[in-house]
Amino acid sequence: MDITIEQAAEDELKEKPDENNLGFGSIFTDHMLVMAYDDGHWQQPVIKKYQNFSLDPAAMALHYGQAIFEGLKAYRGKDDRIYLFRPQDNLRRMNKSAHRMCMPEINVDEVFAALQELLRLEKAWVPSVSGATLYIRPTMIATEAGLGVRPARQYLFFVILSPVGAYYPEGFNPVTIFVTEKYVRAVPGGVGNAKTAGNYAASIMAAVEAQKLGYTQVLWLDAIERKYVEEVGTMNIFFVIGDEVITPPLSGSILPGLTRDSVLRLTRDWGLNVVERRISIDEVFTAADNGTLREVFGTGTAAVISPVGALSYKGNVCQVNSGKTGELAQRLFDELQEIQYGLRPDPYNWVVKL
Ligand SMILES: *Cc1c(COP(=O)(O)O)cnc(C)c1O
Repeated sequence: MDITIEQAAEDELKEKPDENNLGFGSIFTDHMLVMAYDDGHWQQPVIKKYQNFSLDPAAMALHYGQAIFEGLKAYRGKDDRIYLFRPQDNLRRMNKSAHRMCMPEINVDEVFAALQELLRLEKAWVPSVSGATLYIRPTMIATEAGLGVRPARQYLFFVILSPVGAYYPEGFNPVTIFVTEKYVRAVPGGVGNAKTAGNYAASIMAAVEAQKLGYTQVLWLDAIERKYVEEVGTMNIFFVIGDEVITPPLSGSILPGLTRDSVLRLTRDWGLNVVERRISIDEVFTAADNGTLREVFGTGTAAVISPVGALSYKGNVCQVNSGKTGELAQRLFDELQEIQYGLRPDPYNWVVKL
């Protein structure tokens, strides 16, 4: 496979931002990777200057939402090398999303090779400040012009890069969560296990209402009984009740997180009693009442581990671990971060060094 590289001219390169003030996803690097699909085939990938697309107003992604994405990060190690965490797994998951949305699958090895080229070119954009990273956003959209509802015949796959700040600039702090009974994220048989744009559009109203009430994130319950825990915001969720570590199973309506998978692997290898099973919100509140609820935390690429300090459900608020970060959440956060930054042996071969 040939990768065409059209480098931006020296005087077109952007000024690098202040690494202590990056925020999330508002600054983009000088180049992007673009690969078009037409007539049953992917064209050659092209690395070119970050720029606007020209899209037909009837482009099908804009109307019917054939749009999928991924999210992963590049980390700058102490040795100044760039590290990626399970990147091929992200591309494989993108293919699962593509399959569900009747979009074409990509060649994981070829796209990963092109992504590595892009990252080599943009290496200087990977922040050095502790906790800051280069967020990688692979995306695929249907570009064919047409208003018929059917799979498009033309697509664009692209990767953009955004330097992002540390998720916890003020330290590893627990968040407060609002359990919504009013809205659901995904239904059995729907697209909840695909990283597809519409899922996030559908989630915004619940997030806005929770924020108005002073909560950081929404906890989603199952759509049928509104009883069993699914996910929190855009993270998977774990509970520690007594000596059991519990996370909801991959039932089809939750996103199969790579951080979730990594946490399962680590905690099982540490000899903990880990189970993937349904857990009702009542079980969580009962455990809080009888003192057996020890920890709650979310898992996802952005935060890695996000400890939960309080949950609000039907007007009742339960504190988790007196609102403090739990022992397991802290241990997982430290272990995963150190693996991601290449500071610790990686027995699972999760890390790819650029
Ligand atoms: C991306 C995402 C996650 C977390 O997945 P990771 O691979 O761990 O980043 C969880 N839930 C939803 C809804 C997501 O979109």
